[in-house]
Amino acid sequence: MIVRKSPEEIEKMAAAGEIHRRTMKLLEGKVRPGVTTKQLDEAAERFIRSQGAVPSFKGYNGFPGSICASPNSMVVHGIPGPYALEKGDIISLDIGVTYDGWVADGARTFAVGPISAVARKLLDVTERSLHDGVAQARAGNRLGDVSHAIQATVEAEGLSVVRSLVGHGIGRDMHEDPQIPNFGDPGRGPLLEEGMVLAIEPMTTAGRHAVRMGSDGWAIYSQDGSLAAHFEFTVAVTAAGPRILTPWHLDKEQAAA
Ligand code: MG
Repeated sequence: MIVRKSPEEIEKMAAAGEIHRRTMKLLEGKVRPGVTTKQLDEAAERFIRSQGAVPSFKGYNGFPGSICASPNSMVVHGIPGPYALEKGDIISLDIGVTYDGWVADGARTFAVGPISAVARKLLDVTERSLHDGVAQARAGNRLGDVSHAIQATVEAEGLSVVRSLVGHGIGRDMHEDPQIPNFGDPGRGPLLEEGMVLAIEPMTTAGRHAVRMGSDGWAIYSQDGSLAAHFEFTVAVTAAGPRILTPWHLDKEQAAA
């Protein structure tokens, strides 16, 4: 069952999303060679709690971190730890913020200094596919329109969307219905209606789409060792169109406008 949110509830989710946006900006300023993923995790947790919010991932199904930090061929769910970023790495940071009982979820893959042409393309195309998916998150469309838009953008560039990991509805719970695959057919799936809030999150690789789980039982890697990227927004379907509630791509002035 897809839980629709009232305009007042969407405002509460946007408040969580603003804390999310500021957390991502904070981490963006810290991503550089030599920084450990544990240091990023600690900075995120400190900031989120300073805002009266809670890092949603901490303790979720036993997850030990406040954020997920997934370098290079790791797609998602990396446990922060002693790994120190190296020049040329890519690092996916996934943040969940719970504020006043509402959850905001979003992710972004960063370049650590100059990166390879393949990595640059993977990041640019995946971020673009997220925006293409968001553009389809309109009342009257179907969920498959979102999924298909992401897939079309990614595959047109010779990259792959991971099939076994999906986006999700979000609200009081981090994971609500519906599941949101990053591939599919337009015009299929649940009808999108005003008040639905979706965590749209293309997960992609520069190689093939198969993934494998790491030995810690959390980290998911591309099976072929190819680079992987992850970009995510929490998006509300509103009367005025899609509204990004975790606008980590905007600075403070843009987000307030
Ligand atoms: Mg998510």
